[in-house]
Order: sequence, then structure tokens, then C-alpha cells
Amino acid sequence: MQYRKFKSVDKEISLLGLGVMRLPRLENGKADEKTGIDLIRYAVDHGVNYIDTGYTYHGGDSERIIGKALKDGYREKVLVADKLPIWLVEKEEDILPIIDEQFKRLDVDHIDMYLIHNIVPEVWEPIKKFNVFRHLQKLKEEGRIGHIGFSFHGDYDLFTEVIDEYPWEYCQIQLNYLDKNIQAGLKGLAYARERDIDVIIMEPLKGGRLSDKVPPSVQAIWDRAAAEGIAPPERTPAQWAFKWVASQPGVSLILSGMNSFAQLDENIKIFSEDDMNKMSEAEYAVCDEAADEYDRKIKYQCTKCGYCMPCPQEVEIPDVIRYLNNWYAFDKIPSTKIEYLEWLDGHASKCIHCRACEEKCPQRLAISDIMTDAIEQFSK
Ligand code: SF4
Ligand code: SF4
Repeated sequence: MQYRKFKSVDKEISLLGLGVMRLPRLENGKADEKTGIDLIRYAVDHGVNYIDTGYTYHGGDSERIIGKALKDGYREKVLVADKLPIWLVEKEEDILPIIDEQFKRLDVDHIDMYLIHNIVPEVWEPIKKFNVFRHLQKLKEEGRIGHIGFSFHGDYDLFTEVIDEYPWEYCQIQLNYLDKNIQAGLKGLAYARERDIDVIIMEPLKGGRLSDKVPPSVQAIWDRAAAEGIAPPERTPAQWAFKWVASQPGVSLILSGMNSFAQLDENIKIFSEDDMNKMSEAEYAVCDEAADEYDRKIKYQCTKCGYCMPCPQEVEIPDVIRYLNNWYAFDKIPSTKIEYLEWLDGHASKCIHCRACEEKCPQRLAISDIMTDAIEQFSK
């Protein structure tokens, strides 16, 4: 296993971190506690020493199962990261009860890494209004939490504003070879690096889309790279994606949500290779080509500019189009539909086809028709 030292933490941390967002389920739909505990301990036994969870993951079962997995001497071997679900905080008095509950679920007296979860424009003002920084600082002084950071899904401008607002010790951003220019992106990574802040990467495989069901035209690019001797023939799409992230300067840790022993084995093997964090110019060019091919498969050329917003029916137009584009680009992989249905409030089904948005769209997209397409695709 490759290890890197965090600037803020006096400990070598495995480059691969275990994200416990989705646990294996039993037939009755409940989290499979025994397998969950075994998976977490298996990861730790094989060198992973960073475990990431969140208040809302698996309805709290993620925290509870991690708590049980860390008995019998495992607690001392790992750093535990947990997050404040800031979107559930409606008033300042909500903060501490949520955190107290997290301590109870995890059954620990110290959380090593504590993050404000999912900073986006809507929660940025409440974070300041509810004195979240002051509360976290006090918890740190009391020794209940170790290091303060944030996870982020806003755009680059908000990212720089957030970084400059508080002396963060680390941040967590989405990055992969396809998403290098969305959200904080590579520019955000460089900005954090300039300010000496550790960066944790999430979504290195874009929720499995870069590894699970690779379109034939993208697989052909990987195959050609192998035939030309740019990469060994056994390199998998997951390995290409992980290597691309690991080789970016400023990356401290890469989170992967592994919920099977097969995934754990594959990723542990990848992250144990000596050249895991190096890529040649030729390899980068191959990744760019694969990214271009994914882009070419994008059906609707929305630039996510947001000029069409707000929609009077509260349809989150750019997000709906993003999910729909992913749906087509990744050959209708089910996880796209699941995420659309579970994570988005402003579904296309709210659209009344008034077309008020279309005159504001610089790309002249037939948004109303696209919403009809989304309704059809995601209701099947
Ligand atoms: S056409 Fe649909 S998405 Fe566009 S503004 Fe009207 S309701 Fe909103
Ligand atoms: S205005 Fe057009 S291009 Fe911009 S986000 Fe809306 S749909 Fe996309």
C-alpha cells in the first residue's frame, strides 16, 4: 500500500481511503452488518488506515457499523472521518445534538477528521450564520475532534471563497479524468496546493462509471494504448482512472466506496504498485482521448452556465441534463438513475413545458423537450 503524509496529521496515511457510503444489503434491504464489519477490518488488515463516513450514509448504519468494526483493537489503527450534514442544520442549536449522535453511533470519544459535508452555494451563508466554525473550533480545543475540513460540490469561484474564509487543514473534492474542469476541478486542486492544504479526492471512478461498464469505443482506446506499448495489457479502466488521480500534484488521499471483497482486493493491489502515482505524457494523452470520447457521447451540449435558472417550477435544469447526459454516455448504467431519483429534488417531472427557460439558454437547447426525454428515460 502506498502511503502519504498529511501536512496536518502527524501520521502516514494510506493513499487509498475506504468510503463507507454504501454497505452491502441483506435481502430485507437492511445493511449487512456482519459483512460490513468484515469488509472494514479486511481493508484495515491490508493497509487502509483512513475510514470515511457521514451522518446520512445508509441512514446512520454506516457510522454504527464502523463503530462495531473498530472494536477489538482496530480503532487505534485508523483515522476516522465523519461529516456534519449542514443541509439538516436549520438553526445553530441543531449542530451539537447531531455531532453528539455521531459520537454515540461511532461509539468513540474522538473523531480524527471532521468535515462540513457538501459545501454548495445554498449552505455557505448558513454555515457562517450558524457559527459552525466557532462550534468546530471549540470541539477541537476540547479534543473531541482532531482536524477540520470540508467536502465540496460547488464551483471553482465558491471553492476559492471557502478556502480563503477559514484556516482549513484539508478539503475533499470530486476529481477524475473526466471531471477535471467541473466543480473545484484541477484549478481548485492547484489553489488548495498553493495554500498548503491537503486534498482528499472523491469520485475517482465517477461513481463506478469509469470502471463498471465501459463503452466499447472507450475500451478500444485502452486496448490501443496497450497494443502501442503505452500501458501493460492487463491495466484495467479502474487502474487508468486511479493512476490519473494519484499522479496529480497535491493529492493526499483517494477515497473509494468499496463494498465487496473483490473491489477491495482489486483496489488494494492497484494502490500497492510502485508506479501507482506516476503517469507519462503518453498515458495522460490516452486519458484525454478517453475523456473526449465520453464527451462525444454526451447527447445535450449544456455548458452548465445556469442562465436558464431559476425555473418557476423549481426544476433543476442543469442537473437534470447532467444526469441525462451521464445516462446516455454510460450506456444507461442503473446507478445514474438511482442517483437522479435519490439525490435530486428538482426532477424533470415538475416541468410544465412553459419554455420560459429556452429563450435564456445561450446554447439554444430545447429544454422542454429534454425534460420530456428525462421523464421518459428515468421512469422506465
Ligand atoms: S419549460 Fe420546464 S424547465 Fe423550462 S422553465 Fe418551464 S417548467 Fe421550467
Ligand atoms: S442555459 Fe442552457 S446551457 Fe446554460 S445551464 Fe441552462 S440548459 Fe445548460
